[in-house]
Amino acid sequence: MQITGIGVGHGVAVGPALRMPDPIGEPEDVASPAEPDDEYHRVETALTAVTGDLVELGHRAGGEAEEILEAQSLMAQDPAVVDDIRQRVGDGKTAERAVFEAYEEYAKVLEGLGDNPAARGADVRDVARRVIARLKGVALPTIPRSDVPFVLVAADLAPADTATLDLGKVLAIVTRDGSSSSHTAILARNKNLVAVVGARGSESIVNGHTLIVDAERGTVTLDPDRVSVAAAAERGGRVAEPRPLTPGALGDGTPVPLLANVGSPEEAAPAVALGAEGVGLFRTEFLYLDARTAPSVDLQRSRYRDLMAAFAGRKVVVRVLDAGADKQLAFLGHTHEENPALGRRGLRALREHEDVLRDQLTALAGAQQDTGADLWVMAPMVADVDETAYFVSLARSLGLQTVGITVEVPSAAVLADQVVPLCDFVSLGTNDLTQYTLAADRMLGSVAHYQDPWHPSVLRLVKLVGDAGRASHTPVAVCGEAASDPLMAVALVGLGADELSMSPGALGDVRAVLARVTLKQARDLATRALAQTSAAAARAVVADALGSVG
Ligand code: PEP
Ligand code: MG
Repeated sequence: MQITGIGVGHGVAVGPALRMPDPIGEPEDVASPAEPDDEYHRVETALTAVTGDLVELGHRAGGEAEEILEAQSLMAQDPAVVDDIRQRVGDGKTAERAVFEAYEEYAKVLEGLGDNPAARGADVRDVARRVIARLKGVALPTIPRSDVPFVLVAADLAPADTATLDLGKVLAIVTRDGSSSSHTAILARNKNLVAVVGARGSESIVNGHTLIVDAERGTVTLDPDRVSVAAAAERGGRVAEPRPLTPGALGDGTPVPLLANVGSPEEAAPAVALGAEGVGLFRTEFLYLDARTAPSVDLQRSRYRDLMAAFAGRKVVVRVLDAGADKQLAFLGHTHEENPALGRRGLRALREHEDVLRDQLTALAGAQQDTGADLWVMAPMVADVDETAYFVSLARSLGLQTVGITVEVPSAAVLADQVVPLCDFVSLGTNDLTQYTLAADRMLGSVAHYQDPWHPSVLRLVKLVGDAGRASHTPVAVCGEAASDPLMAVALVGLGADELSMSPGALGDVRAVLARVTLKQARDLATRALAQTSAAAARAVVADALGSVG
């Protein structure tokens, strides 16, 4: 049996499936058939076990994670909650339901109090889920551990889950949800993992099924025959010819610098090894996903210094915190929103917490002073002239010299002639630009097919930005995943992109295909792609002209 999804990264992997358990749902509110005393005894045992689990997890994790997990272990013993559970069990509730209700009430109380309400509530609910999992005797929805390498199968993965994967063990990822630009996919690409996302039907995969995960074809084969396994193993073992790490350029010599998208200073060295000419997008929020309080200026300064030192003498583009949507940061006061991608995200949240933004810009300016790096700083989710002017003037007033914005909200692209000249550079975030232009949530597998930057509507917006860049002599970069697609890279340059930033794993293929076209050819192809009526037709124009690439 074969399941189809969206392939991410390169290559093929074969291995046994190991499922990440689905998130635990709300226990049913039914009368308990057991004696209250027996039920309560089960609760006591589960609470003790969870307390021990949390303390042990904390010891293993160390650092800030240890503090958070220890605080959670105390929540598992909180006398008021324990009393509340006892009372509910006495009223005839099941142990699971009593735990759920008592912690839910506790979470709501905490959310009504002082600082970091969202994080406190989330921590309490996480404790409840752990206790309920114990009571039900089911595994927790965390990344499973195994002594042998495996293919991780999940409904979806949070960015933090993907960021902490043990690459020695995880051969590939298969998720039911997600699109090619979801953060799971981005992190998978960064880690050079084989992945298939948006794999509808992957719910039927059970632990131990042998899987062939083919990122190039976007397929997952269940329990394949021996011939297919041998063929896949042969492809997986294929060693690509090493390609020279020359700077990115078109066939006519036009330079197109190729940079890397990274989420931590530790990703710098591997990116340089793959030929990155600098960093075109440093997603700072990945450093702070677990932070409960805003990181200090000194801490940030030292992290940014690490990054800049790894790219000494090269350009480093840092994006200030892009919190919201699927990357919530407790210290920006995120609360539940029905449509978080359309909510208080990026610059919108930072503007409401200007102290956090000022601290980050101050830390960046300090790290630049420390290292002499060629630092460029940009803001995410900027909608118009007012927001652009606000960010550019604030950043300059705090000592930053090269300041720009990410063009990823369609309004900013439509207003490119007004917005671009205010900046020292702009960078196209094609992931969000596509989701907002096509009105399709990039996290939602059911609409993943809309998330296609080849759509002529997206290409036209890119062209508006390219034209505005050329008219005002403002450099235009692309930092969305579109730049990782070699054919799209040609189209982007033809539409006016001066440089491209991508997952480091894509640098080699993009470098190779750019070298095959002149600027004139790229522009002609882009013009023809723009005139098409569908994403598939636009891509076909470029694919037919360039033949198969890779
Ligand atoms: C984008 O939207 O294209 C982008 C680069 O930012 P992110 O994927 O982090 O939203
Ligand atoms: Mg974005």
